[in-house]
Amino acid sequence: MIPADLIEAARQRRWLVTGAAGFIGSHLVESLLNAGCTVTGFDNLSTGHQHNLDVVSQRCGSEAWSRFSWMQGDVRDMAACREACRSADVVLHQAALGSVPRSIEHPEATNEVNVGGFVNMLTAAREAGIKRVVYASSSSVYGDSPVLPKKEEHTGRPLSPYALSKWVNEEYASIFARCYGMELVGLRYFNVFGPRQDPHGAYAAVIPLWFAALLRGEALQVNGDGETSRDFCFVANVVQANIRAALVENTEALNRAYNVACGERTTLKELAGGIAKALHELRPDLSEEATLHHRDFRAGDIAHSLADISAAKNLLGYRPTHQIVDGLRIAAEYYLERSDLSK
Ligand code: NAD
Repeated sequence: MIPADLIEAARQRRWLVTGAAGFIGSHLVESLLNAGCTVTGFDNLSTGHQHNLDVVSQRCGSEAWSRFSWMQGDVRDMAACREACRSADVVLHQAALGSVPRSIEHPEATNEVNVGGFVNMLTAAREAGIKRVVYASSSSVYGDSPVLPKKEEHTGRPLSPYALSKWVNEEYASIFARCYGMELVGLRYFNVFGPRQDPHGAYAAVIPLWFAALLRGEALQVNGDGETSRDFCFVANVVQANIRAALVENTEALNRAYNVACGERTTLKELAGGIAKALHELRPDLSEEATLHHRDFRAGDIAHSLADISAAKNLLGYRPTHQIVDGLRIAAEYYLERSDLSK
């Protein structure tokens, strides 16, 4: 949802969302269209899906959908980036290859899309006269730093090609701000979840994987002892942070990166219980408790993650509207409705 006080300003911009057919990108598109905005969606449908956009079109209705322009293209293709930027005033750059394990298996592809594609988008935006670009960074930039909570200024050494790609994005952003006067805001997302997050594939994230496993009546595969913790963040909070960053007027808020999370830590054991409970409340025939099956810790993973969100609160006016329990309830409704997941 777009904060009510920003709707008027949002309507005055033409928005470009890269990665629009993905999980987070499709929520950005939906919220912007619902607020009356004009949006271009740019995506190569590699990890995103046409059906995410079909769902958005159904949920928004035909008037809102008429304000959406679709462009299938690749951020590695400079001409496509230029074309996408032609009719936009602001860019929300989400397109990237996510997942730490994928990046460990495919460092070259991760670099080409996440770093090369990022530089292409910044260049195309600059050439088109677009000043403001908000881009998806990641909590993975904290790397091996053990300090909790994570504060923006204290990053460690990256632990994977994915983390490195996001760290390089932030460095490029400050170079483009310095050399070309652009206004760039990085958002370090912390374990985002919600409807439309993909439960399929080798690189699926833990929450959709576990919803799908519980719906099939299976045990949950836990990497490690279950005491690993994360600051899980419902996707509506991420949408809000993007819109606030895109429209913020205070120049002190620009050209830096912010933590986007709830500022609360949940262990994997607690998460498993929360998912089982959310499903059980809606479908009492499903067990209220999850069976856990432990395996080794995964390479490149960090043990604990907890965000200090005071910078986003103070400079962007960000206020998480959904805590993890609220988000799990909404996600449970979504996964229960997916006929491909139930037994
Ligand atoms: P997603 O895979 O659902 O979305 C990414 C989208 O980018 C997909 O639709 C994909 O098709 C598109 N894409 C990939 N390569 C592309 C290319 N070469 N050209 C054009 N489009 C391309 O993932 P998501 O979870 O929605 O992630 C969105 C962004 O947020 C990514 O930058 C990701 O790194 C970042 N992020 C996500 C999380 C999370 O927990 N989901 C956490 C931290 C950062």
